[in-house]
Amino acid sequence: MIHSMALVAHDKMKDQMIEWANAHKSELAEMELFGTGTTGGRIATEVGLQITCLKSGPLGGDAQIGAMIAEGRLDALIFFIDPLSALPHDVDVKSLLRLATLYNTALAINVASATLLVRAASVKTAKTA
Ligand code: PGA
Repeated sequence: MIHSMALVAHDKMKDQMIEWANAHKSELAEMELFGTGTTGGRIATEVGLQITCLKSGPLGGDAQIGAMIAEGRLDALIFFIDPLSALPHDVDVKSLLRLATLYNTALAINVASATLLVRAASVKTAKTA
């Protein structure tokens, strides 16, 4: 079961995140949501979901989400990574992916996998059962 989820999208991926969150608003509304500053702010204002906004990703928001994963406070991470741009906080991106892998956190890095993940949110996994 997915009870808590973090949402992060790099700048060129934010429109996709908004479109995806709008399409899955009812499922997402059942979860406790967290987001990096800009992504979370747009989800709150443009989609109307309740979401706790952390710092902006490059200013430590990715690291905050990584810490939440390490503390066992997140069941899932939707992380729309920009595959075509060099990012100043690439080291944070790698760290967040490493922690999600290490802690067996449900992870989706594009729209197709995010859709599958949110549709399976009520399924019990080894980690979240
Ligand atoms: P942002 O952070 O939502 O604050 O833009 C996302 C990121 O680049 O990690």
